[in-house]
Amino acid sequence: MMDKVTRRKTGDQMLVRRLNTAIILDCLRLNAPLSRADISSRTGLNRSTVSSIVNELVQGGLVRETEFQKDRLGRPGLSLELSPDGACAIGVQMGVDFISVMLADFVAKPIWSKRIVADSNVEQSLFIKSMGDLIQEALKQARRKHSKPLGIGVGVPGLVDLQHGKIALAPNLQWHDVPLRDMLVKRFDVPVFVENDANASALGEYYFGIARQVNDFIFLTADVGVGAGIILGGKLFRGNRGYAGEVGHMSFDPNGELCGCGRRGCWESIVSPRSVIRKIQSTLCQNYTPSLIRDLVQNQIDKITFETILQAADANDRFALETLQDVGRWLGIGIANLVNAFNPELVVLGGALARASTIVTPIIESTVEQNALRQPHESLKIGISAYGSEGCVVGAAAIVLDEILRYPFP
Ligand SMILES: [Zn+2]
Repeated sequence: MMDKVTRRKTGDQMLVRRLNTAIILDCLRLNAPLSRADISSRTGLNRSTVSSIVNELVQGGLVRETEFQKDRLGRPGLSLELSPDGACAIGVQMGVDFISVMLADFVAKPIWSKRIVADSNVEQSLFIKSMGDLIQEALKQARRKHSKPLGIGVGVPGLVDLQHGKIALAPNLQWHDVPLRDMLVKRFDVPVFVENDANASALGEYYFGIARQVNDFIFLTADVGVGAGIILGGKLFRGNRGYAGEVGHMSFDPNGELCGCGRRGCWESIVSPRSVIRKIQSTLCQNYTPSLIRDLVQNQIDKITFETILQAADANDRFALETLQDVGRWLGIGIANLVNAFNPELVVLGGALARASTIVTPIIESTVEQNALRQPHESLKIGISAYGSEGCVVGAAAIVLDEILRYPFP
């Protein structure tokens, strides 16, 4: 039997090895291909530690050796990179009216995906069962490819109680206190991570997308609602109880439109696609504004989608263009406030904002410039999500991979 001191020492050594493994995996994620010597010089770990851990990772299938090359000092060696086939993760996006599931490889590249329309008016248990059935399909795909599923990440449109993996509140679904993690663990018996959808997307961009190596950025998404994932100092900013980033409910007009949260004039009640569609529908119903939108839906105003509006704008329809330009201005005003508050290096537009980016980005840029203070605005970049409307589902898978990159070999 080990005495107390030996046991503590062994525990410390294991912890150090896990941390070093995480450092090496992270170094490869950001900079691969690298040789063992490169990893050693970049991480400051000694060469024998690097070699021993790398050998273990190669054996475990998480890292692979590629072509023979010379390192910076001209010494020959095999270069290394994360092995895409090493393992896989399942990402799920729970929308208000759809469910999207993706099987991603070890570098968060999609290998299979499926999206279904889901009616949020059905009973909650049926909605969650449909999600489970889709996850089951993804697991079947993983088995076919002989890839080990590391876990399931779920991005949800609402506030998440991270400690218990519960949806605390999903305003646009009217769900309260749903123990989603427990429900999925019970059915699939793999690690499950539940995260707010914008946070999931932000992490996806940070680990694998447009915001790699950007330590201060804001991911902004608009679908049914508007939300932000705020990364500060390389970490997700969660706030006191984990509910930070609900920028869609910043108040812009206390007497404005009613919002899903029960208050009035929130940012999302002005700029979210759902609000834009409603506004367009009511204008087209009330008076005869000439617009291609009407023709595209053959006068069935209730069939208008955000895509219809984009399509009309692309064809230079004046009403659609003016409406989207107005949205761009309101987005710019809100983003200017966020820039003043957080001084990010980059703002990434995702979800429907990414789809509308050619029209809204120039207006957002000029509005932010006019409304933000000069100093926090200096050197700000506005970028588009690397994954478009798939951002959340890739991000949800990235959360699973990140857990493994951070805590390999439990
Ligand atoms: Zn609100």
